[in-house]
Amino acid sequence: MNPAPVRLDILRLPLLGRLLKQKRGRLYFQIPLLLVTLLLLYDGFTGPQQASQNLATVGVWVHYRGVLILILLLVGNLFCMGCPFTLPRTVARRLSKQGRRFPKALRGKWLAFAGLFGIFFLYEWLDLWASPLLTAWVILAYFGVSFALELIFTESAFCKYVCPLGTFNFVYSTVSPLQISTRSPDVCRTCVGRECLNGSYAPSPLILTDLIREGASPSTHEHNPQGVLGCGTLLFVPQIRSNFECTLCLDCARACPHDNVALQVRSPAKELLDPHTFPRRWDVSFLFIALAFMGVTNAFGMIPPVYDLIGALSRLTGINAEWALLLILFGVGNVLLPALVGVGMAWAVLRVTGTVLRGRRLRNVFCAFAPAFIPVGIGIWAAHYGFHFVTGALTIVPVFQNFLQDHQIGLLGPPNWALGGLMGTAQFGLIQGMLIVGGYGLSLFTVRHTAADLFGQKGWRAWLVVSLILLGLVLAALYVNAQPMEMRGISDLH
Ligand code: SF4
Ligand code: SF4
Repeated sequence: MNPAPVRLDILRLPLLGRLLKQKRGRLYFQIPLLLVTLLLLYDGFTGPQQASQNLATVGVWVHYRGVLILILLLVGNLFCMGCPFTLPRTVARRLSKQGRRFPKALRGKWLAFAGLFGIFFLYEWLDLWASPLLTAWVILAYFGVSFALELIFTESAFCKYVCPLGTFNFVYSTVSPLQISTRSPDVCRTCVGRECLNGSYAPSPLILTDLIREGASPSTHEHNPQGVLGCGTLLFVPQIRSNFECTLCLDCARACPHDNVALQVRSPAKELLDPHTFPRRWDVSFLFIALAFMGVTNAFGMIPPVYDLIGALSRLTGINAEWALLLILFGVGNVLLPALVGVGMAWAVLRVTGTVLRGRRLRNVFCAFAPAFIPVGIGIWAAHYGFHFVTGALTIVPVFQNFLQDHQIGLLGPPNWALGGLMGTAQFGLIQGMLIVGGYGLSLFTVRHTAADLFGQKGWRAWLVVSLILLGLVLAALYVNAQPMEMRGISDLH
C-alpha cells in the first residue's frame, strides 16, 4: 500500500525545518530540558523536603505529566525528542567499543511494561510525589540505566525496550498529528544504503552509489566519521505506518542522503483506523489495553474508596504490609484485569460472529481490537493528569521564587503562595468528563473500522461487544474522577 501524499512537511518549513534537520538540531530541545532536569535534581537533593515547595516534586508530578499529555495530543512525541536522558547516552555510545544486540528474549514490550508497573507501584508505596529526595533519585536512576544500556548495546535499547516514560509516549503518540514518512516511495525503492535505518556513519570514508533509474543521473554519497546514526529504535522509514516506537529524534531525516524523509502533518490517530498497523504480538497489544486500565487504577489510588478497599483486603487476607496490599491491588487492576478483559473480549467477539476458535484466531482478534483502548486510554490519562496540572499549574511560580530566595537571588521577589490553579476542580470536572467520553467516541470509531474489516457484515456484533467492554472502563473512569481526589504535591501550599 502506497502512503498518502505528504500534505504539509514540517521539515520543509523555512526556518524550523532547517533547524530541526541540523546535525545537532535535537540539542536545541535537549539542552533546555537537561538544564531543567539538573535544576530538579539539585533542588530535589538539596532543597526543602516539603513536596509542595520543591521544584523536583512539583515539576515532575504536577507539571511534567500534565504538559506531556497536552503536547502528545497537540503536537507529538516532543518529550522523547528533547529527552535529556539520551545526552549521556551519546557519550556512552562513543565509549562503547563493540556493542552487542539487546538479548533476543528481552526484545519485546514486557520489560517496559514491568517498568511502568513498577513506577506506578513505587509511586504509591513510597509516596514518590511527597518526597523530593526520592524523586531526585528516580531521575538519577534514569540517567544511570540509559547510560549503562547504551554503553553495552548497539541499538537504543533503553528507549526501545526499557524506558517506561518513552513507552507511555510511544503508545499515546499514535493519536498525535505529526508522523515520520517518506516523501517519495520511489526514491526509497532505489536506495542502497538505507541510511535512515543504518545511518551514514563510517569509521573511514566510503562512497555509495544508488541504483540508477533509467534516465536519471548517477547518485553517489559518502559515509564518513561525520555521518549520523540511523534509527535507534530500528524503524525503517518506508515501512513506518505509525508513531509507535518513534522518538522523533529525526536522525533518519539527517541520515537520508536523498532528503526523502518528511515530518508530515496527518489526521490524528490515523493508524488506529487500520487494523493491520500493529504487529500481532501479545506484548504490544497487552500494553495498549493495560495502559488504559493503569489510567483508572492510578487515579483510584488517590481517592478515599481506595483506603476502604485496602482495609477490606487486609481483613480478607490477613496481610498488613502496605506494600503487599498495594501489590495485590495493582496486580489485579493493572495485570490480571486487563489480561482477562482482553482475552474475554477476543473470545466473545469470536463467539458472537460465529467464528470457529482455531489456531491463532484468539490472538489475532485480541491484537486487532487492542488499539481501540488507546483513544479511551489517553482520554482517561488526560482527565487525571489534567486535573493535577490545572489545579496546580501556577504553584511553580512561588516554588521557583522560593528557590531563588533560598539562594539569595531576589530576582522575582518573595514567593506568592496565593498562586495555585488555573481553574476550580468543579469547573474542570466537566472537562474531565468530556475528555473521557471524547476518547471513548474515538475508540468506537476505530472499533467500527476494525470490526468491518475483520468480520464484514457481522462486524456490528463485534463492534457491540468491544463497545460495551470499553463502556465499562469509561464508567469506572468517570466514577473515579468524580470522587474527591488528593491534591498531591500542592495541598499544603495555602
Ligand atoms: S528514507 Fe532515505 S535513506 Fe531511507 S530508504 Fe528512503 S531514501 Fe533511503
Ligand atoms: S530515526 Fe527512528 S525514532 Fe528517530 S525520528 Fe526517525 S523513525 Fe523516529
